[in-house]
Amino acid sequence: MSRVLVVEDETHLAKGLRFNLEAEGHSVEVARDGETAVQLLSNGSRTPFDAVVLDVMLPGKDGFTVVRELREMRNFVPVLMLTARGRPEDVLKGFAAGADDYLPKPFELPILLARLQGLLRRREWLIQSATPEQAPASGYETFSFDGRTIDFGKLELRTDENTIQLTLMEAELLRHLIANRNKVVSRKSILENVWGLHEDTDTRAIDNFVVRLRKYIERNPAKPQHLLTVRGVGYRFVPEPVD
Ligand code: CA
Repeated sequence: MSRVLVVEDETHLAKGLRFNLEAEGHSVEVARDGETAVQLLSNGSRTPFDAVVLDVMLPGKDGFTVVRELREMRNFVPVLMLTARGRPEDVLKGFAAGADDYLPKPFELPILLARLQGLLRRREWLIQSATPEQAPASGYETFSFDGRTIDFGKLELRTDENTIQLTLMEAELLRHLIANRNKVVSRKSILENVWGLHEDTDTRAIDNFVVRLRKYIERNPAKPQHLLTVRGVGYRFVPEPVD
């Protein structure tokens, strides 16, 4: 059973989500505004939440602010953001703020449940892969290149200077690029393998992730040496560039 926080001010939608998530066996709490959500998520004495379903449009503090504040507090609970359909800029804003996945409203309930399950599974898997004896043989616990180490168990990127906390999806994207290192990885393959999306989705969200990852891993993000753009196709991760 997972503990899920639903942040939604529309009563009927919040009730519907609670009912269906509880029917799936989750324990659900509802917050009707952003302030309450941040309070519930930052209260260390309570049982932590395993995932958050976060609406963008909220009274007072909006969803973008909520997820940004959580990440600033170093709370990396998986966040599924509910955005307004036809507003791709919301998707980019959500990812930039630190959301892990998004779903445009109005959504089909089975799709929301599947996405949430995906986030919970990945979290479970990442937590498990932190324990060596349970690690899947194909998984990388840590991966080092050019003075940087990515720790997939702790969701950390360590450099000589500092340690950067990664979100779940940043770590998943890095894992996919590393597993296919030195090869071209298409945006479609990233959408399918990292996000589990098979429909036509705006791939600009991926580019946005890549911009962030470059800030973490490149010495000069404007002139990337490791995370290269392959024009018209996708990306290529090169751990040891030959110049
Ligand atoms: Ca709302």
